[in-house]
Amino acid sequence: MAEKHLNEKDPPGKNNFIHLQIEKDIAEGRNQGRVHTRFPPEPNGYLHIGHAKSICLNFGTAEKYGGKCNLRFDDTNPSKEETEYVESIQEDVRWLGFDWGDRLFYASDYFDKLFEFAIRLIKNGKAYVDDQDAETISSQKGTPTRPGFESPHRNRSIDENLDLFLKMKEGAFSEGERVLRAKIDMASPNMHMRDPIIYRIMKSPHHRTGDKWCIYPMYDFAHGQCDYWEGITHSICTLEFEVHRPLYDWFIDQLQETGYRPRQIEFARLNLSYTVMSKRKLMELVKDGHVNGWDDPRMPTISALRRRGYTPQAIRNFAEKIGVTKVDGMIDVLLLEHSVREHLNKTAQRVMGVLNPLKVVITNYPEGQEEEMDAVNNPEDENMGMRKVPFSRELYIERDDFMEDPPRKFFRLAPGREVRLRYAYFITCVNVVKDENGRVTELHCTYDPASKGGNSPDGRKVKATLHWVSVKHAVKAEVRLYDRLFTDEDPLGHKDVDFKEFMNPDSLKVLPECYIEPFVKGAKPLSHFQFERLGYFNIDPDSTGGKLVFNRTVRLRDTWAKQQKR
Ligand code: ATP
Ligand code: MG
Repeated sequence: MAEKHLNEKDPPGKNNFIHLQIEKDIAEGRNQGRVHTRFPPEPNGYLHIGHAKSICLNFGTAEKYGGKCNLRFDDTNPSKEETEYVESIQEDVRWLGFDWGDRLFYASDYFDKLFEFAIRLIKNGKAYVDDQDAETISSQKGTPTRPGFESPHRNRSIDENLDLFLKMKEGAFSEGERVLRAKIDMASPNMHMRDPIIYRIMKSPHHRTGDKWCIYPMYDFAHGQCDYWEGITHSICTLEFEVHRPLYDWFIDQLQETGYRPRQIEFARLNLSYTVMSKRKLMELVKDGHVNGWDDPRMPTISALRRRGYTPQAIRNFAEKIGVTKVDGMIDVLLLEHSVREHLNKTAQRVMGVLNPLKVVITNYPEGQEEEMDAVNNPEDENMGMRKVPFSRELYIERDDFMEDPPRKFFRLAPGREVRLRYAYFITCVNVVKDENGRVTELHCTYDPASKGGNSPDGRKVKATLHWVSVKHAVKAEVRLYDRLFTDEDPLGHKDVDFKEFMNPDSLKVLPECYIEPFVKGAKPLSHFQFERLGYFNIDPDSTGGKLVFNRTVRLRDTWAKQQKR
């Protein structure tokens, strides 16, 4: 039975305990072998890389077993939710390459049904209106080892409860004046079963239902029933919801509709080193201007990663690599960087670009002459072919690639020394030009015409190959280099220190005057490139009106891969 649902290319879920459970359910014919998952974000911020893990898991699992995955907005709290977030979330899920078909839902779609269910609970003596405020209710909750106190309103009559709840709905009370609570057990060892609040009064307009409602179901009262009504077979969620499961089950028991219920499976949320991932904290960074918006390329949001030059495939590969576990842990951010590097290495167009330009004049190269050098577009992919790179008498090289007085281990350009210009010629530095402050402004070099293409004419060796750009043909660009947003591995892990204390003051470096070979002219925003020797870059959407802006996605050096070899 299980094989029938398995995508042939995909191996069974050997390393994924969720997939193992699903395969067992399919084999046992549970829910007629259906697999139906959902991704349930709250539209109160932009999605981050942690959500990407959940998206890949939910949509990926449905894909793997020929099932379906719904996108459902958990919009039960109108005061924090906005349409902007609803839209960005859909864009992000689609960008990652997933499709919810016609199954876009909102918890608010179920407000009527949830209200009727609440009425039913009241009628069955399973819910009551409490006149106490949230603080008092919370103070009566007890502790895990001590039972709670019953509310003085716990035993009011069904009629009185119905009357009060309808008045709540009609707006007769102000916020916080009344709540509806499930009547379960104030002595339950599970704190979530101690008469949880299921409805509260909130007088904020809702992004979808407007002012139709002034009472809203609590997340815990909505989530499980939404799953149930949508026919979800596997409710995959993060570990903190494990203790809520008995409550969700209790609600479904009260519905008493069919024997079916979703199977909730919990997994450990993704934590990444040097990264803060709570929407609330990310919101703080945005609102207080510590970053330039939700899609600032230093943020861990999906929209920021996209802008920075991450590819959907890289993120999906990352999610696959980290797998799922039942134990909270911290994933090294280097693994995320490794994933994008690995994908871009296979796919990115190579070009040459100079970030800190130093001018080189080839004194024995005829003035006015130009040549086109043959360059490989991607050594990892023959199908990407070759391109022509213009060469002329004046070039830019990287300032760092020259030292007037080099230490022993510096093999690049220095007075009297010969190096190779990639795809072009061997050049030798013959003269260093400086300004009145002693700063090097220009190098005079000679080239060897017999070394065309960068090939040694007589077997003589050079120890370095430099990238370069022809001054006359170069495209000027602004380049933005990024470093980690936080200097601490676990910025939220310090009890008495605010996480913002660990913000890296050097996380953004803007280089206003860089020169790139003309191949990049006309490339669309978000196009990916490898600047040889410097890293992977992409075109930032700020590139408008003739201005060209690049983001460095990631450097070339793969620290993660190196660590694995050790
Ligand atoms: P945050 O704490 O960042 O605000 P959240 O859990 O409140 O996140 P939701 O919008 O409720 O955000 O999350 C939608 C789904 O994404 C949930 O199923 C949640 O479990 C999952 N999710 C959120 N954060 C992570 C994470 N770091 N790793 C894996 N899954 C996550
Ligand atoms: Mg949440």
